Amino acid sequence: MKFLFLIILGVFAFSTLVAQDFVIRNITVFDGDKVIENTSVQVENGIIVKIADNIKTDSEAIDGNGKFLMPALTNSHVHAFSALGLKEAARAGVLQVFDMHGMEKYQRQMQETFKDSTNYADFYFAGAAATAPGGHGTQFGFPSPTLTKVAEATAFIDERIDAGANYIKIIVEPWRETLSHYVVKELIEVAHRKNKMAVVHISKLDDAYQVLSNGADGLVHVWWDEPITNEEIEVLKSKNQFFIIPTLLTSHLALQTIRKSNPENNFMSNEEISSEVKKLYDAGIPLLVGTDPPNAQINYGTDLYKEMELFSKAGIPNIEVLKTATSNPSKYFGITDTGFIKEGFKANIILLDASPISEMKNINTINTVWKMGKPVKRN
Ligand SMILES: [Zn+2]
Repeated sequence: MKFLFLIILGVFAFSTLVAQDFVIRNITVFDGDKVIENTSVQVENGIIVKIADNIKTDSEAIDGNGKFLMPALTNSHVHAFSALGLKEAARAGVLQVFDMHGMEKYQRQMQETFKDSTNYADFYFAGAAATAPGGHGTQFGFPSPTLTKVAEATAFIDERIDAGANYIKIIVEPWRETLSHYVVKELIEVAHRKNKMAVVHISKLDDAYQVLSNGADGLVHVWWDEPITNEEIEVLKSKNQFFIIPTLLTSHLALQTIRKSNPENNFMSNEEISSEVKKLYDAGIPLLVGTDPPNAQINYGTDLYKEMELFSKAGIPNIEVLKTATSNPSKYFGITDTGFIKEGFKANIILLDASPISEMKNINTINTVWKMGKPVKRN
């Protein structure tokens, strides 16, 4: 896959006006944990200040009758090579994106430039993912540091931290040269010593099992090769607390091509991969939605709705699917000011014309997106 590098920074004017104050009345709210019927939500200076059924205020009132309010969405696995991706995300109500491998210099600029902007998603990044020379992640045409030895792990992590990385990403992908599990274990341990989370790319169950046993905080894909057993899940749960960003849409789309070029490999079917995700949900493993754009030509915005619909189709209750796109990413990536509609959180919220709790496809009915209380430009 070839990426187009359009690094456009600082050329987009964005509003720095004082946030609007308003109250949304008679609204059904999903607050990140639960649904509250027929309530009101008050926003002041870009912050949610009150959720109650009779708020007294002179602020502009928006009638929420028949509508549905929820926290803005988070895409927990992207590769955003330009601000255009952040804009596409914001338009679709995706106001936080977690980048999982890219060019640090530009990433830091994007994070700083668009922080607190209205029409662009907030950007969090791993910097350069840890991979072996010639390994997955080195084929995209931009410079990518590599390592091979346990003794190089500390310097590698220090470089990422110096570059401003919010968390550490590690790649274990045996279809190319790949890091040994000794190196991966050391990277995870060094990251933890330096108070950074370590998330890992895998495509095989055996690698997933190894890296989770070695303390990885999360996986950024689900495996494609064989089903996990309930016993294996229980052993993993007893060793470690972890989350999974399964990237079902990416897996389904990428495997359409990969199956053709690797007829000798026995990948699970799309349905089987989806049922792995349901199995993880049933076992209580936290799930987060991510779509890995621009891989498989997935976009940064509305394609996240498809991932949510795939989760729902896999049998995960819709309220739980909403958590995978809102409160779970904030909770598991340690973001304390978004992902919930609660007092003191940023008013990064979306208003829908119909409830995605009754039908997940209603996530397509987003009517208004507010970032810190300001309406996001949607066209
Ligand atoms: Zn990725």
